[in-house]
Amino acid sequence: MKTKILTINSNNFEPSDLNGAAEILRKGGLVAFPTETVYGLGADGLNPDASRKIYAAKGRPSDNPLIIHIADYKALEELTADCPENGRKLAEAFWPGPLTLIFNKSSKVPYSTTGGLDTVAIRMPAHPVAYELIRISGIYIAAPSANISGRPSPTKAEHVIEDLSGIIDMIVDGGKADIGLESTIVDVTAEMPVILRPGYITDEMIRRIIGQVEYDKAVLTRIQDSGIRPKAPGMKYKHYAPRGALTIYEGNREAVVSEINKIAEEKLQAGYKVGIIATDETLSCYHRGIIKTVGTRKDVNTIARGLFEILRDFDSEGADYIYTESFENKQLGQAVMNRLLKAAGYHIEKV
Ligand code: AMP
Ligand code: MG
Repeated sequence: MKTKILTINSNNFEPSDLNGAAEILRKGGLVAFPTETVYGLGADGLNPDASRKIYAAKGRPSDNPLIIHIADYKALEELTADCPENGRKLAEAFWPGPLTLIFNKSSKVPYSTTGGLDTVAIRMPAHPVAYELIRISGIYIAAPSANISGRPSPTKAEHVIEDLSGIIDMIVDGGKADIGLESTIVDVTAEMPVILRPGYITDEMIRRIIGQVEYDKAVLTRIQDSGIRPKAPGMKYKHYAPRGALTIYEGNREAVVSEINKIAEEKLQAGYKVGIIATDETLSCYHRGIIKTVGTRKDVNTIARGLFEILRDFDSEGADYIYTESFENKQLGQAVMNRLLKAAGYHIEKV
């Protein structure tokens, strides 16, 4: 299959520019498109054959449900069996935006979209291209991240091309994803809302709206060892992983830099390719290997935005070993560390 590439200026386009993409989706095809979190791989969420194509293209396990993207609140009534007060309040506060809510599904939503679950994940994206594409296509777009299963999520069209060119109908290139990490997922089906995946919308922001929220036990623990079953099925799979072996170093800055320099030198001596994930603040402290900065510690948003891209860059460079500093586990840093720990297979060295 030849994959069409449609380039759009996200800040200046006409909805009709997306007519071709909308037509493909209506006919049951696959279109990758930009959102404010990461690029999504879209298909008609109410068409079982179309959503099955998503699983095939990504090599995604069939029990890992998709998120349905909507462009108006009316859709909630159609897709859910009930909309609890907490869900309504969170949707009003953060939609359109990087928050996915889990509801009990209506009978209209096929099990092929929800991975066999009786619940459905719904988000209203804020990105103008995503939003307009849903609106003009007149359908609900089921879309997981537009990467081959297990690889780092795509934050640029180039990443989608790398993974899915020749496999899907179209890629809409709307530039770089602003946030760079997937949406926060909150289950609102029970009395106590639960965060299943941390993201840009933090627990503090959620508590400000509905007073209380808990974390699913699987969020920051090493679930392989603990026997905990995460409520977001996707969180149990190996995820976000670069091809090289990634290790996180945690401790005070000087000790971390010195340990990374030491281990990098050892691996280089042994003939391996070594990548180092630095920050703007430490870039000049590393001496050998492929050294890249992920962003500045003064603004954790830059680190979130750069994380998946730097992991992919080290794949392109053919790094055998990758060493990274760790980040403060609070606010958006929590989402950064959650992805980084998974990408590293929980390999963390305390120094
Ligand atoms: P992705 O869009 O690639 O980040 O994948 C969607 C994420 O949403 C996966 O981690 C899924 O497990 C999660 N998800 C989707 N639907 C549900 C649901 N009904 N219940 C819990 N988690 C869900
Ligand atoms: Mg994904």
